[in-house]
Amino acid sequence: MIIVLLGAPGAGKGTLAGALKDQLGVHHISTGDLIRLEIKGGTAIGLEIKRYVESGGLVPDEVVTRMIEGKVVTTANDGKGYMFDGFPRTSAQALDLDKILTKNKLAIDFALYMEASLDVVLPRLTGRRVCKKCGALYHLTNMPSKKAGICDACGGDLYQRADDNEETIKKRMTVYNESTKPIIDHYKAQGKLKTINADGGADKVKSELLKILSEVHEKRS
Ligand code: AMP
Repeated sequence: MIIVLLGAPGAGKGTLAGALKDQLGVHHISTGDLIRLEIKGGTAIGLEIKRYVESGGLVPDEVVTRMIEGKVVTTANDGKGYMFDGFPRTSAQALDLDKILTKNKLAIDFALYMEASLDVVLPRLTGRRVCKKCGALYHLTNMPSKKAGICDACGGDLYQRADDNEETIKKRMTVYNESTKPIIDHYKAQGKLKTINADGGADKVKSELLKILSEVHEKRS
């Protein structure tokens, strides 16, 4: 199964993929995570793209597309499928993803548009905490760790992402509305768009996706 998760920052794409990747047996590919790894590692690419991320802008298409192509090429034959989280984010990236998948004899099953209102996503982002060690996601009030500041899964320290501050969030929302939201039409035109309301809690969103997946499987059998 190949699923593209679409939605504003804070819609819950990473939380949903994290909760379901093992159950569905798919690769969770988050460009945000790949980018943060490059920055943390101080690589040449990391140094080049840090400023885009810190300002809430987008990393150039060719850099992220190369990252995605690399991941797809090395895993295309393992039959696991993918959940793309945070990619594509521009119309050019959406076209590139179609091309990369076609080249590897793969195709997107559907894009899941996680529709969430602004008054829900803002507090989700400011209260988000991430494990430094394993990347697990938490929220100060919606999904707190058992011990404050410590990851339940691996005991790592939790931190707040540098771009989860109010000023950068505003910029990220503008970028989302201008560059990413139009991609919804790309998938609609392909007849591959599914929409869910992502204002609810993680369990509700997860069961909505599982419902869609069982409908897709039923149609095929
Ligand atoms: P995320 O973890 O998905 O919220 O992404 C964090 C930041 O990484 C974004 O605000 C962008 O600066 C950058 N980023 C992530 N994915 C992409 C992408 N597909 N294209 C360009 N920049 C991206």
